[in-house]
Amino acid sequence: MLTHGHYDHIGNVDYFTQAQFYMSSTEFQFWTGPTSRHATFAHLVEAAEIDELRRLDEQGRLTKVDSTTDLAPGIRLTALGGHTPGELVASVQTADGVLLLASDAVHFYEELEQGRPFAHMTDLVAAHSSYDVIREGLRSGDISRVIPGHDPKVLDGAGATSSPFIVSLSPSPKTTPKPNTKEQ
Ligand SMILES: [Zn+2]
Repeated sequence: MLTHGHYDHIGNVDYFTQAQFYMSSTEFQFWTGPTSRHATFAHLVEAAEIDELRRLDEQGRLTKVDSTTDLAPGIRLTALGGHTPGELVASVQTADGVLLLASDAVHFYEELEQGRPFAHMTDLVAAHSSYDVIREGLRSGDISRVIPGHDPKVLDGAGATSSPFIVSLSPSPKTTPKPNTKEQ
């Protein structure tokens, strides 16, 4: 699953020579289209990596999804724009409830806690709407825990670390950081 087109999220795609990839169609169209060439956006991608996305698409290895898509039993992809036009997040059903793998829809917990979006956003209005969707999921219990894309605090509640680069988040997170739903 390619949550969005930024270099730190698609840079190693070519290592997975047999994989079938998923990305939102909105995201693909944006990064392969003319608006993304403006410096505001272009400094967050590598042209060669966007070309790789085009190659995957031509090879039929890039499945483009819209809105909410069930990838497999218990794994649901949802487009939550703001950081990028078609950012995808993944809800994963576990024995401990639903983990929301937020990728860069939420880089750090403080985005949810303080209502302060990260520096790189294509649409601030959509970003705040996406935060509200996630807060509502936490409030209603549809989401048990949010895993931000870049927050070291996820390690506080993580299980075994199997390598310097891979963190196991199951079977049971030891803590469940929940954001304050009050926006300041
Ligand atoms: Zn990003």
